[in-house]
Amino acid sequence: VSDDPTVFEKIIAGELPARVVHETETTMAFLDANPLAPGHTLVVSKEPYERLRDAPPEIAADVFAVVRELAPVVEDAVGAAGTTVAVNDGAAAGQEVPHLHVHVVPRSSGDGGGPVHAAFQGPVDLPEERLDEIAAAITDRT
Ligand code: AMP
Repeated sequence: VSDDPTVFEKIIAGELPARVVHETETTMAFLDANPLAPGHTLVVSKEPYERLRDAPPEIAADVFAVVRELAPVVEDAVGAAGTTVAVNDGAAAGQEVPHLHVHVVPRSSGDGGGPVHAAFQGPVDLPEERLDEIAAAITDRT
């Protein structure tokens, strides 16, 4: 983990240009520089928490409240019919910028994209006992 400021910190500090579309005390939203579709927007926390698990719950709530607010607005702004909302949470999940952000990608039928499921090879085959173990391991921690 590097202590260098992330590209998003530089945008938040005004040191790098971005098309900022929304800002609150704790969050900022700007257009992705390499849009997967017209309107592709990133909602970031202003503080550089690396992953969802690093953000205090109230900050994560702020980020997702903005996602809730912006997703339909962005959709309408570009005339899209749906939205893929996604977080690449951790390098293992494909996160490249280590600064919490949510992708809001407007979608249209026939845009050539797929569902989030397309990021995977297909369902994994897990025996009932393993599913029970996993469910218990999660409930024990919540
Ligand atoms: P991720 O792979 O989830 O970490 O996504 C990082 C995203 O940040 C990518 O979609 C990039 O296109 C986007 N990105 C990187 N640099 C910039 C920048 N300077 N301004 C806006 N978006 C950026």
